[in-house]
Amino acid sequence: MTGVQSEATRQRDAICRVGHSLFSRGLTSGSTGNLSVRLGDGTMLMTPTDSCLGELDPARLSHLDADGRLLGGDAPTKEARLHQCFYCRPDAGAVVHLHSTHAVAVSLLPETPADNALPPLTAYYVMRVGTLPMLPYFPPGSGELFDAVADVASAHQAVLLAHHGPVVAGKTLQDAQYAMEELEETARLQLLVRSFGPKTLSATEVEDLMARFGR
Ligand SMILES: [Zn+2]
Repeated sequence: MTGVQSEATRQRDAICRVGHSLFSRGLTSGSTGNLSVRLGDGTMLMTPTDSCLGELDPARLSHLDADGRLLGGDAPTKEARLHQCFYCRPDAGAVVHLHSTHAVAVSLLPETPADNALPPLTAYYVMRVGTLPMLPYFPPGSGELFDAVADVASAHQAVLLAHHGPVVAGKTLQDAQYAMEELEETARLQLLVRSFGPKTLSATEVEDLMARFGR
């Protein structure tokens, strides 16, 4: 087995394992959500269209070239271009997109700022996500949505799609998964405390975290 083949096998198994973990904890439901990994040769593995993250088959994952053409496996998710948008980032090795309840709920609140949808409530949120721009509603799979995501993806590793869900890129699938989980838990915290006027980390504390752990 060549190096690339063994990497692909490992990443296929990782996508299925992470998908099952996210689905079984209710972080996305039905056939929503999709995952991808960029391999060392620049091709991508991606979850297929209409697949349930809890029941992925490693042999049926979509294998795409860098331009999104299908090389093998089932047809990819209709949201494939969301992933491609984030691979404009040289540091992006994986992308996770979920329809997670609390992040979507935050996107529905009139007071949620579009330039940064979640406040710095915890240190780990700042370290793993940092800033979360929110895009207005566009129909899923539409060219307008992909154009809007492409506009923010080079400057941000995460974006919240209003009335839809978050997209997060990471160096590895595990990095993207952990950042997504931090984002979803921070959204849950925000919904729990927002009516009490919570304290957030100060600008100085956020700057210090960025300087120590920066992204
Ligand atoms: Zn979606």
